[in-house]
Amino acid sequence: VKEQGRDAIQFFNKYMADKARNVLVMEGDLHKALEQHRFSLYYQPRVDVTTSQIVGAEALLRWEHPDRGMISPAEFIPILETSGLIVEVGRWVLEDSIRQVKIWQEQGIWKDDMRLGVNISPRQFRSSEFVNDVTKILQEVGINPSLIEMEITEGIVIHNLEETVATMSSLCELGINFALDDFGTGYSSISYLKQLPVAILKVDQSFVRDITFDRNDRVLVETISAMGNMLGLDVVAEGVETCDQLHLVREYNCKYYQGYLCSPPVNADAFAELLTTKDIT
Ligand code: C2E
Ligand code: CA
Ligand code: CA
Ligand code: CA
Repeated sequence: VKEQGRDAIQFFNKYMADKARNVLVMEGDLHKALEQHRFSLYYQPRVDVTTSQIVGAEALLRWEHPDRGMISPAEFIPILETSGLIVEVGRWVLEDSIRQVKIWQEQGIWKDDMRLGVNISPRQFRSSEFVNDVTKILQEVGINPSLIEMEITEGIVIHNLEETVATMSSLCELGINFALDDFGTGYSSISYLKQLPVAILKVDQSFVRDITFDRNDRVLVETISAMGNMLGLDVVAEGVETCDQLHLVREYNCKYYQGYLCSPPVNADAFAELLTTKDIT
């Protein structure tokens, strides 16, 4: 037994060492990616549940690794976050997506009431330059701040609630809106809902996935949606893939949805295509 334990520990140590080495290599690659402009943005439409009109887009970061091809954000965002690189990459995401929307506005395909969702990581949000960076980008690009929706998770609050509320309030004063992302997956989502100035609630896709056959998930989505509506928030169902799921989230009064049923995230050209074709129907 002792022998086995030692083997297990050695195995574990090797596993951890490999993992740590892998993270270091990735971190180096991410540095290079930033210098060489190898990041790009995809856009996923947000759709009105009742009219099926596209009412906005969420910008999603993509990284094409020179050898490994497309790497999932789930794999590299945590590394950006722990290394602090997310501050710079996040600034780029904000600026690039806003510039893109400006172009679409000028082309007349982005309507005045459409919203742009941008994910903001905790580290980026807490960085001392954040509010300044945002202000500068808005001025430089010249865009109405109220079309921007910053998607945050409750992880943003971990360190200091007062500071979080203060930063959010300054951004709200600029006209920016906030969405609480992945709602229901954390420990204290409901209490934060009361304390943070958010206007939009995004029901996590883990609740939507099995909604057609799992009664518990149905109850949760219906309850979260009812609560959001009663608090005057717009509710977005994430990860809607089928018509049956759409019927249910409509029944539960979610106002918007995102999901493969309309479209997966696509590059800017393909999104422009969606705006010009899907909108007519
Ligand atoms: P998220 O913010 O919850 O984004 C939604 C994720 O769900 C996206 O994954 C999207 O591709 C995926 N998705 C959308 N519709 C469906 C569907 O119908 N079915 C399924 N199975 N999935 C769907 P993605 O693009 O891989 O991003 C993963 C996460 O990485 C995001 O989750 C977000 O937390 C993070 N992320 C992505 N881009 C950024 C960014 O620019 N900044 C920061 N800080 N985080 C980002
Ligand atoms: Ca999001
Ligand atoms: Ca989400
Ligand atoms: Ca998520």
